[in-house]
Amino acid sequence: MAAQQWVYAFTEGDGKDKKLLGGKGANLCEMTQIGLNVPPGFVITTQACLDYLAHAERQLPEGLPDEIRTHIRSLEQQTGKVFGGADNPLLVSVRSGSAMSMPGMMDTILNLGLNDDTLSGLIQQTGNERFGWDAYRRFIQLFGHVALGIADSHFDEHFDAIKRQAGVKADIGLDAEHLEEICRLFLEVVEEQTGKPFPRDPYQQLELAVKAVFNSWRGKRAVDYRREFKITPEMANGTAVNVVTMVFGNMGNDCATGVGFTRDPGTGENVMFGEYLVNAQGEDVVAGIRTPKPVSEMADEMPEMYRQLVELRNKLESHYREVQDFEYTIEKGTLYCLQTRNGKMNAAARVRTSVEMANEGLLSREEALLRVEPDMLEQLLHPRLDPEHKSTPVATGLPASPGAAAGKAVFDADRAELLGRAGQKVILVREETKPEDIHGFFASEGILTSRGGKTSHAAVVARGMGKPCVAGAEGIVVNVKARMAAVGETTFLEGDTLTIDGTTGNVYIGEIATVDPEFSDNLKTLLAWSDAIARLQVMANADTPAAAQKAVDYGAQGIGLCRTERMFNAVERLPVVVEMILADTLEERRDALDKLLPMQRGDFKEIFRVMSPRPVTVRLLDPPMHEFLPTEAQLLEELEHLQKLHVNMQGIGELVGSLRLLRPGARHTDMPAPFDVLNADLVAEAITKKRQMLNKVRVLYEVNPMLGHRGVRLGITYPEIYRMQIQAVLEAAAELQREGIDVIPEIMVPQVISPEELKIVKQYTEEVQQQVERHYDVSLNYRFGTMMETVRSTLRAERIAGYADFFSFGTNDLTQAAFSFSREDAENKFLPQYIARGILRDNPFEALDYNGVLKLMNIAVKDGRKVRPDLKVGICGEHGGHPASIRHCHHIGLSYVSCSSPRVPVARLAAAQAMLTEDEYQ
Ligand code: ADP
Ligand code: MG
Ligand code: MG
Repeated sequence: MAAQQWVYAFTEGDGKDKKLLGGKGANLCEMTQIGLNVPPGFVITTQACLDYLAHAERQLPEGLPDEIRTHIRSLEQQTGKVFGGADNPLLVSVRSGSAMSMPGMMDTILNLGLNDDTLSGLIQQTGNERFGWDAYRRFIQLFGHVALGIADSHFDEHFDAIKRQAGVKADIGLDAEHLEEICRLFLEVVEEQTGKPFPRDPYQQLELAVKAVFNSWRGKRAVDYRREFKITPEMANGTAVNVVTMVFGNMGNDCATGVGFTRDPGTGENVMFGEYLVNAQGEDVVAGIRTPKPVSEMADEMPEMYRQLVELRNKLESHYREVQDFEYTIEKGTLYCLQTRNGKMNAAARVRTSVEMANEGLLSREEALLRVEPDMLEQLLHPRLDPEHKSTPVATGLPASPGAAAGKAVFDADRAELLGRAGQKVILVREETKPEDIHGFFASEGILTSRGGKTSHAAVVARGMGKPCVAGAEGIVVNVKARMAAVGETTFLEGDTLTIDGTTGNVYIGEIATVDPEFSDNLKTLLAWSDAIARLQVMANADTPAAAQKAVDYGAQGIGLCRTERMFNAVERLPVVVEMILADTLEERRDALDKLLPMQRGDFKEIFRVMSPRPVTVRLLDPPMHEFLPTEAQLLEELEHLQKLHVNMQGIGELVGSLRLLRPGARHTDMPAPFDVLNADLVAEAITKKRQMLNKVRVLYEVNPMLGHRGVRLGITYPEIYRMQIQAVLEAAAELQREGIDVIPEIMVPQVISPEELKIVKQYTEEVQQQVERHYDVSLNYRFGTMMETVRSTLRAERIAGYADFFSFGTNDLTQAAFSFSREDAENKFLPQYIARGILRDNPFEALDYNGVLKLMNIAVKDGRKVRPDLKVGICGEHGGHPASIRHCHHIGLSYVSCSSPRVPVARLAAAQAMLTEDEYQ
């Protein structure tokens, strides 16, 4: 077997092989090979990392040290510098980079190769003593921290002390002597902390650094990040190490360092975006130590460099055909590109750049659609500040990640996590954030920092997560120890509510109302392209006229599920529903139903009107009757209370309070009652009613209500209930039809297990239809169909289709039935372990189960269409809004998916993507 190649020069590595070279390494190779100015360097492969981590003794893989030497020699030749040389020393950076970009997750060491000898060489060569000492102190600290594991605080202490002595605020105010002193102190720190002198041999430095990068793959930060973002070994396994010749942005005022995006990642606007610092190195821009300048200022300050930068931007975008996030350094008038990767951006920016790049001809429409993650679109439906609000901001920072959020101020990540876990809304407030704060981001509604720019750690991470962020709000002085912050004249404490607006950069004390966002024109365009391509239609689940309007606004092509029981639960309806349930005779029940009929008819009319001419699928009553009654325990408690009252009428206040018990569903606030009704008779009457209810609750009690007397089983045993609902639907349609409004009601029967059930309900429907048609003198156009949510129904689909114009999979119930899992118990008790141990790949209540539930669905679709080739089939469970599930639905030939309104845009895009990636489906 030929020896494995562990190292690739930038001139030879395959720019497409991110798995082997990591994203950063692959792009450094690619950029080098297309002629961009990248400092010479090489990549140590992710395979070397895995090999290293696989051996307990932590030895570099065999052959790697030799390959490294060979490649360093080649760098020496290319640059004319010498690694460890006292005259013209070669310095390198050692940078991590895995297949998936994990910003700030692993550490980079700059200026490696420095020691007392090479430092004097560097100083001699540049004639810049200050620069030399500055580079050295940075290296000692970074190397000490990353490779030797020394806490930063040991170094920071000395650094701050010297700054204080010198009376300067920023490092830029320190002179060569100060920095030399700092280096001396830092070298002492290393000896104290490790018991050994600082390693002088550059090859030894390099070996320790490479090992440190390899080890960082297993570090807590990286592991947490991969878990949170579900990065599996198939997506990224091990980190590569990039060794890159150092270039210096801190050699003087003709030097600079910066980071940029080829387009604005906050808005998507087609303008170069970014920030730079003159006379600075590496991480100064990102770390938020000095507030950098917007890149547009470079046009005046360094016009020739700006021209080159624009050229670099154009080359990057036309080559990668994607927005790039890049890093560069200018060393004495030469521009070097140090990194590029596909830009992370928020949903609004992604949508806008997709539409614009397609319109510019850079991408095809299909590519543009595939470029947007459907789930992201939900971010666009995040609230923004009520434009009518009158509050004045207490501070303004940079609008670093759009969206508005309110929550309690917390001053460190651990506390944010603690409160966030307890269900509180918090805003993480920091001077600046660091990678170790990441858990605080997850727990917070938004992030506020008092230092740093739009490319600071806080901004980048918040944007990646789609959370609002205001960065660099310099008016705020954070005092973590005192758990408070000062803003001008005022202060706020930990626990005080703040509102931040990441779109404007404003910060407010107190909570400000938010409003739903509107669809941008770009989003409308993107979704219109989606609809033109998708085969699946997208419907919404909606139960009220307001929800129906929202569904239309979100682009739903109809209502796929309108649940009638939600209407039963309305405060003024519930007493009538209870009356119906308590009825002892058919007559009594009919009386109650007669009262409900006009109410339901009115609801349907309004919904149909909003949706016209789109179809609306109305599901007949589904839950068991006892769901509309209080529980036994509640009733017993109330009875006891009433009885006490009856015996001992104690004061009007108490009685007023207890009277609410006469009205099921009424709340404390529904008071007050007139005083003349306050008498003992009334209480006695209430007691009788409660007793009646208690008896009924006991009669209706079910061991397993989910599998009990519900759905069509109610329709069979109490035909008058279903008849009333059918009548309400058809009369609503008839009345609208007479107004000249097109409606297509669809009557849907839940919980069906056999064709016989459906046949019976269909019969009622036809009888009611005839009455309604006669009464209104219209001919009705409606459809009749069934839910498919029991296992047996899917297996009886062929016969069931004989009575149904459509099927709608209720995948929540179907999943429960197929697994014999009850959702709550499963999710709370054992599913997490099932998933962690790989017994199940996903939570089947979130992602449609490919191996079981989907097979049942497939059988039902095929068998149903044998009888009725034009059978309309859809899905109305929660899976209908889940992109991967939508892909399955497309594949088995469903006609539509139905989901909650805010998921409708997600589903529309996912439906288009399912079509576009049809050939890759497996
Ligand atoms: P990250 O993944 O955290 O961005 P990088 O490896 O990109 O880490 O490096 C951190 C900083 O150091 C960046 O600002 C980068 O531009 C800078 N840097 C890395 N290598 C070099 C180099 N060879 N010369 C100059 N600056 C460098
Ligand atoms: Mg970088
Ligand atoms: Mg159901």
